[in-house]
Parts: sequence; structure tokens; C-alpha cells
Amino acid sequence: EAVVHWMRMADLRIVDNRALSQASKRAREVDIPLIVLFVISPQDYVAHDRGPRRIDFVLRNLKSIKRSLKELNIPLYVTTHTPRRNLPTGVIDLLKQWNAKELYANIEYEVDELRRDIRILELAKQEGIRCTFIHDKLVVEPGTLFTQQGKPFAVFSPFHRRWIEALNRNLHWIAEASVPTPNDYEIHSHSSYADLFNQEVPDEVEGFECEDREKMKVIWPEGHGAAKEMLDRFLHTKSRGSQLGPANPLEEGAESSAKASRALTYKDKRDQADRDTTSRLSPYLSAGVISCREVVRATMELLKIKRVESSRDTSIGTWVQELAWRDFYTHIMCAWPRVSMGRPYQEKFAGVKWEVNEEHFNAWKEGRTGVPIVDAGMRQMNTMGWMHNRARMITAMYLTKDLMLDWRLGERYFSKMLIDSDLASNNGGWQWSSGTGTDPQPYFRIFNPYNQSEKADPTGNYIREFVPELGGLRGPDVHKPSPKTAQKLGYPLLLIEHGKARDRALRRYKNPGME
Ligand code: FAD
Repeated sequence: EAVVHWMRMADLRIVDNRALSQASKRAREVDIPLIVLFVISPQDYVAHDRGPRRIDFVLRNLKSIKRSLKELNIPLYVTTHTPRRNLPTGVIDLLKQWNAKELYANIEYEVDELRRDIRILELAKQEGIRCTFIHDKLVVEPGTLFTQQGKPFAVFSPFHRRWIEALNRNLHWIAEASVPTPNDYEIHSHSSYADLFNQEVPDEVEGFECEDREKMKVIWPEGHGAAKEMLDRFLHTKSRGSQLGPANPLEEGAESSAKASRALTYKDKRDQADRDTTSRLSPYLSAGVISCREVVRATMELLKIKRVESSRDTSIGTWVQELAWRDFYTHIMCAWPRVSMGRPYQEKFAGVKWEVNEEHFNAWKEGRTGVPIVDAGMRQMNTMGWMHNRARMITAMYLTKDLMLDWRLGERYFSKMLIDSDLASNNGGWQWSSGTGTDPQPYFRIFNPYNQSEKADPTGNYIREFVPELGGLRGPDVHKPSPKTAQKLGYPLLLIEHGKARDRALRRYKNPGME
């Protein structure tokens, strides 16, 4: 007999993991061993545009979890399943094989995953297996916050006010889940359990070989310890200044200075891509290597406050607001699941006419648009698997409003390249940028990439770092090199002039379906 915790792509940790914690408590209560299961589903990864970096990050974290669980005498069993259609049957068969009567898992809110879990519930019921699905991904559970009219929030600011208010009244929402207690059984001696311990986490998933794995390992080390250190450094040490590129963030000698820590200068500095100004925690939050609750608790401890900071005028308040954005987009996906099925949140834009231009799309992907800030952003993502938030907004808006290419193309490319890819946040960011989403400002919010460039990269260091052709330029030229300079330096010429592109976008959004 056994109690099983089914670990998924977004709760890859032992510390503060709600379902794992409850599964462990239950196992102890009924006095039977706990088994942790992870199912690799390559067909799901293809269907959901997962990229090799994200998959590799999952495998690396699983290896680290396997080692730590072993110390607790708890086996982690990793299996690969195809086709995805009958994955629920595969899981139930495993549970039967282990004679497991109880299954615990944290909820995944994407449509396919919810459907899969409903099927699991049906099958489990037939077999007399009890299933417990638990909310874990966000600070505030979807379906808890409503407007005065009793509707889900569709606008961020009122959502954020309500989010803070509800959280401060329910601080137990961020309470820490206890770590699992060790299995105290001689399960090694039982041959089928021994097999679970002996089985190895694979190094790769076929079709998702990560070519720059060694580099990713350096920039994004796996494990809860690394995530915690990343968080601590953000909260307690100063910016690492000009260090932007693919180096190990934990090895750099960041100057310890709580007063001037990135967390405490976040409000004024966060939009600067030319310095290391943000936490870079997104890969760890997306994969659940650290819990968002732990992040909020640590932030409160920094300020020694008992309530969650609500003011957007302070750095900590601004940072906590970013975590609320993370919650917001998953809440949106739950209330309007169409957004995760390639449909715009604002359905009136479903008919906007997009250009079909492979050449432009490739130039954007490769960072060859001739607009330095766009190219720097794209090349940062291509080399690091991560891009600064402001650069994500600029590059996304450039694809959709300047090149007038379908936002879904960009969403898919980001999903494949980012190590922090998360369906709800990526979709939310793309729909915000393309004007089809929840941004209450209408579609005519169109960034001028050159003005944006001066704000996001006032020193020009970001562009110089990621677009080496322009490495010798100083002053305004780096943001907008003349055609002559560009040609001389071997930098691509513009694909389209911004003013013209802007007029075209305004025309097309105003009259969806028209040229
Ligand atoms: P910090 O500034 O330190 O913020 C702390 C945390 O808050 C982040 O780690 C993240 O979990 C959350 N957060 C911050 N901003 C946002 C936001 N706008 N929306 C949702 N959560 C946010 N974020 C992802 O995690 N995965 C994605 O796939 C993703 N795709 C995006 C696509 C586009 C087009 C845009 C505009 C944004 C996208 N974001 C995505 C949001 C944001 O850009 C990243 O979360 C952020 O850049 C991560 O860096 P950080 O950890 O240093 O953030």
C-alpha cells in the first residue's frame, strides 16, 4: 500500500509544497509509505510549446529533488508516458500496481491539465482511489476574489487592491506547509519499492534535447537552495550593476547592503534593463522551485512587517504587486479559458488582419529588425532563456504593432525559448502588448521603440551587451543608428519605419477585418 503525491511541472520542490505536505501527513496517519510520482509527457510538451530549456530545468530539478527525498526515505518515481490521451489510465495503472488508495496533487489550472485531472477523478472513483487536488500555485486561489457585482476581475488595479485586502485578512493563505516527514519503513527491502529508488531521472526527453544545457546550468542553477539564494540576494544585496549577460548570478560578489538592495530600489530601477534590477526569480516561480508564499513571507520579514505591503509608492509594495500580476493572469485564464486556446480576451479583435511575412518574423526571432532595443531583447532571450520585463513588452509590441504579425506567433516563440515560460503569464503579457488583452488602455497604446529604448537602457549598456555590432557606439546613436552607420557596422537595416507601421496598426485595430 502507499499514498502517492503526483508532482507536476509547476511544483518542483519539497519545501512548502501543499499537496506533498498533506500527502505526507496522511501517509503518517494511516501508517503507510509515501511515494512521489512525476510523469513526463512529451506529447503535452509539444502541444503546449514547451522548449528544451524549460524541460531541462524540470529534469535538473527532479534530480535534485530525488536526492533530497531519498534522504527522507521517500522514493521519487519518474516515468515517461505517451500518448497523452491515455495518460490518466497510465497513472491509475501505476497506482493500482502500488496498491495506492490515495492520490494527492497540486492543481494545474490550464485547460488540458484540468480535463486530464477530471478524467483521473473519474477513473480513480471506479477503482476506489481517493484523490485530493489542492491549490498551491498562487498567493490567492482563483475563484476567491470578485468585484462588487460578483464577477471575476478583468482589470488589474481593482484586482490588486482586493488581493492585498483579502490577503491581509487571511494571512494563513501564505502560511508554510510542513516539510514531509521521512518514511520510516524498511521499504528498500521490498523489491518493488527498491526499484523506485534505483530508477534514474532521465538526462533528456526525446525531441527536447537542450543544446545550451551547460550554459543554462550556470545561469539558472537548479534546486530550492539556489532559488532561496537568488531571493536572499535580491532582498539583501545591491544590484550587480552592469552584469547583464549569461554569468552565474550566485557566484558574483554582490555587495551586501540591505539598504540599497535591489528590493529596496526596485520601484525606481525595475524598468532599467541595463542594470541587474529585478529578482530573476521567474524560472524558479514558474517551475515552483520556490513557493510564492515563501517569497511573500521573506519579503515581509525583510521589513519586519506583519501585513503585506500595499502601497505602490514603495519599492516593496511595487515588487509585491508583480506577484499579484502573476496571480492575476492565472485568475484571468481560469475565468476566461479561451485565452489559453489561442483566442483573444477581447473577442472583437479576433478578426484583426495580420501580415504574413516569414522574413520579418525570422528577423524578429533572431534579433535582426534594425531596432537595437528590440534586437537586444530578442538576443538576450536567445542566449539566456530570459528577458527583462520591459524588453518583453517592447519586443512583443514591436512584433504585433510595428510588424503587424500575429501575437500567437510571438507567444509560441517566447514559450519555446524562455526558461520561465508559464502559459498564463506569457499569454497575459502577449495579449497586454498586442492590445487584445485586459489592458484597460485601448489598442492605441503603441510604444515608440526609440523612446522606450532611452528609458529602458539609459546607459546603452544593454544594447551594447547583446548587440555587439553596436558595441562601439556611444550616446543616442546606440538607440537609433543612422542607415549609414548601421551599414558600416554590419548591423541590419530597418524592416519598417515606425510612423508608417503605427498608422497601419491603428487602421487595422480600429476596423478589425479591414486592410
Ligand atoms: P521581478 O520583477 O523580480 O518580479 C517578481 C516576480 O513577479 C517574477 O519572477 C514573476 O513571477 C512575477 N511577475 C513580474 N512581472 C510579471 C508580469 N508582468 N506578469 C506575470 N508575472 C509577473 N513571466 C513568466 O514568469 N513567464 C512567462 O512566460 C512570461 N512571459 C511574458 C511575456 C510577455 C510578452 C511579457 C510582457 C511578460 C511576460 N512575463 C512572463 C512577465 C515578466 O516579464 C517576467 O515575470 C519577469 O520579467 C521575470 O523577471 P524577474 O523574475 O526578475 O521579475
